[in-house]
Amino acid sequence: MSTPDERVKPRLIECIRKEYITPNLIRVTFSCDDLLGFPEDKNGAGIKLFFANRESGTLELPWREGDKICWPEHKPVPRAYTVRQYRADTNELDIDFVAHNKTSPGAGWAVNCQPGDTIGLAGPGGPDPLLLPADWHIIAGDLSALPAISAILEELPSTARGVVFIEIDIPEDEHSLVHPAGVEVQWLVRAPQKDPLPILSAINKVTPPQDAVSISAFVAGENETVVACRKKLIGEYQLTRKNFYAIPYWKRGKNEETYHNERHEIMDEEY
Ligand SMILES: Cc1cc2nc3c(=O)[nH]c(=O)nc-3n(C[C@H](O)[C@H](O)[C@H](O)COP(=O)(O)OP(=O)(O)OC[C@H]3O[C@@H](n4cnc5c(N)ncnc54)[C@H](O)[C@@H]3O)c2cc1C
Repeated sequence: MSTPDERVKPRLIECIRKEYITPNLIRVTFSCDDLLGFPEDKNGAGIKLFFANRESGTLELPWREGDKICWPEHKPVPRAYTVRQYRADTNELDIDFVAHNKTSPGAGWAVNCQPGDTIGLAGPGGPDPLLLPADWHIIAGDLSALPAISAILEELPSTARGVVFIEIDIPEDEHSLVHPAGVEVQWLVRAPQKDPLPILSAINKVTPPQDAVSISAFVAGENETVVACRKKLIGEYQLTRKNFYAIPYWKRGKNEETYHNERHEIMDEEY
């Protein structure tokens, strides 16, 4: 069991293999001594990855001095990702990257990476729990949220009930997921000219079972969808921060640097 200090220690992690799960989703598997002691109970949790500095092209990681994080002269580029799965028996960590881009720090690195390439990792962090136990669940997101959604589905009790909506750009990104029989998974292929917010439309059509007294929800992914679904679900089911994780992960047309502050304002809103 790692100490809280070890959990936040930036680690240098090495790619040992990669595979395309679907045309737009790449699984990169990492293993190295720096990963030893990584927590086993954090599948689906957020992590910060560090990529090479844009100007120097070098990767230098921050380090800790007591409670303080110290940054190198050539700061690495940070991006938020998710622990898809860590296997302590083989000391292997899977991270699933959306291959939306060939040149951006996160996706571009994954598209181009080869075994032996390294990046930095800090975390894992929250949320904890990813989804509050309840009689019925609404779970939704796009491919960027699928690592968290997959981890949630794998850990739900076999008796769990609910609906899952996953927005994808092309039908080929649909693939099988492990989930309880009582949780229905629907893949929604994006067609913005017909419906700009298919997850919201799907949520608008669902009705919880009559015997469902408690509801909990998880929605993540593109900004506009998350903001709209958050408003809908809070209004309809009076969900609060305690039983509803609703965090935008990225915004169309903005990179992480230009979107960061707006995302944090949305994250900090009370509900
Ligand atoms: C807590 C958390 C967990 C996350 N987990 C994951 C994860 O496990 N896997 C994952 O792939 N992403 C995940 N994300 C989202 C990821 O951080 C962003 O998509 C990030 O912008 C990717 O960085 P980049 O360098 O590839 O693109 P950026 O340099 O940030 O952006 C470049 C361009 O690509 C666009 N873009 C960014 N992301 C996407 C996308 N998903 N689809 C289409 N266009 C996009 C931007 O709008 C911009 O125009 C997570 C985000 C958060 C906050």
